[in-house]
Amino acid sequence: MNNSIDKIKHYCGIVGIHSLTERNIPQDLFFPLFSLQHRGQEGAGISYLNNGNLVTYKDLGMVSDVLGRYLEEDRLSTVGIGHVRYSTTGGNLIQNVQPIQATCNKGDLSIAHNGNFSNSELLKEKLTEKGAIFGCTSDSELVLHLIAHSMQDTFYKALKETLCYLEGAFSMVMIKDNELYIMRDPMGFRPLYIGQKNGLTVCASETCALDILDIEDYRSVEPGELIVVNEKGMHSEIFAKSERKAQCSFELIYFARPDSQIFDTSVYSSRLEMGRVLARQDGDFSKYDLVMSVPDSGNTAALGYAKESGLSYELGLTRNHYTGRSFILPTQKKRELAVKMKLHPVKEIVKDKRIILVDDSLVRGTTSSIIVKLLRSAGAKEVHVRLSAPEIKGPCYYGIDVPTKEELISNTKTPEEIAEFIGADSVKFLPVDKLKTCYENSENFCYACFNNDYPVKPKTGKK
Ligand code: SF4
Repeated sequence: MNNSIDKIKHYCGIVGIHSLTERNIPQDLFFPLFSLQHRGQEGAGISYLNNGNLVTYKDLGMVSDVLGRYLEEDRLSTVGIGHVRYSTTGGNLIQNVQPIQATCNKGDLSIAHNGNFSNSELLKEKLTEKGAIFGCTSDSELVLHLIAHSMQDTFYKALKETLCYLEGAFSMVMIKDNELYIMRDPMGFRPLYIGQKNGLTVCASETCALDILDIEDYRSVEPGELIVVNEKGMHSEIFAKSERKAQCSFELIYFARPDSQIFDTSVYSSRLEMGRVLARQDGDFSKYDLVMSVPDSGNTAALGYAKESGLSYELGLTRNHYTGRSFILPTQKKRELAVKMKLHPVKEIVKDKRIILVDDSLVRGTTSSIIVKLLRSAGAKEVHVRLSAPEIKGPCYYGIDVPTKEELISNTKTPEEIAEFIGADSVKFLPVDKLKTCYENSENFCYACFNNDYPVKPKTGKK
């Protein structure tokens, strides 16, 4: 789907690597970052230790464009971190691309962060009052300021103190000297995995990024865990415990790659189950001829729907994977063209058919209306839209870019009204209670943008 039009957007993916022996760490970082490209396509960067000095290279663009140069030469190192980033419109600035490197009273540091602090406004205000100067709008820089302001006598103690000030979502990696620091917030909003092989330690947002380096022995970094990796090995401790876990349910619905494990769960199996549960809601399948997905986001759930219903699963929409970066699209005509550039119906499949069309979620409804129109003009008899996410009702304070409440179609329209708005014959969502049946330990997930039950309330400053 075209990110510029109607999709919830993620903020980033991270990677951290430590090796007991020198190796081409920048190149090692390239491959897992490439695997995490789906988590952010607007900026990429790496930091690594080069002859005792911390070096950072980052730019706007895709991983292969920004970091492809690191495939050409051997740059020996023992520790590095990397980041891929998505940014909101207007925030697509080089200053916001990570890792963020800084020199402070605790030494040279570099950090890469996935998530958002829900108390960042408050922390920023307090630090600004103390004279801190911020060089970017990303809240990840706060961590460096808090470490620098800490009165603790060691870096480790300062870091631990800092982590306890932070609220909301953070999966982070950091370099200090020859050490890799790995941290995950106590509620575990964002996924983070760590694995080892032959003296190499790799951590990454999703397991697909470990697979590419043939790291098979991995585990999830625990919520509230702080890990230090250095030449002595790996040291881990739980820096804070939370009664409540809040793993982002949208990660399993849409963000993560289907071949990944996150939150100790297979993304593929979860999506398959969402499709099956969606189908069970419909019951009478004689009213439909086939199931198809909006590729790629709806593929696995559509397959689940087809398996449960016994309807045939057809690839009725062809996706063009070569459309590159998204554009700002001011008019409906141009938005339609952009969708057409990316998706096109296969006429002989859809003509005269009563179609179940599965997608992951509905945000504003603008893209769905164009897709339904495309299918109708290709001859579809009926289009029944099914979403593997519940109705999105509110913002996310934990690192996902959800449009404003007013823009979310489910805040102003019932599913019947949405069907009318997008020109579909029917629209059905997967309700939150049904989504929960797709997850093991469903109480450990966050559903706040669907049900307004925010695990940690955002804290704002005085302004
Ligand atoms: S509010 Fe929604 S998008 Fe944000 S963490 Fe919770 S489930 Fe994920």
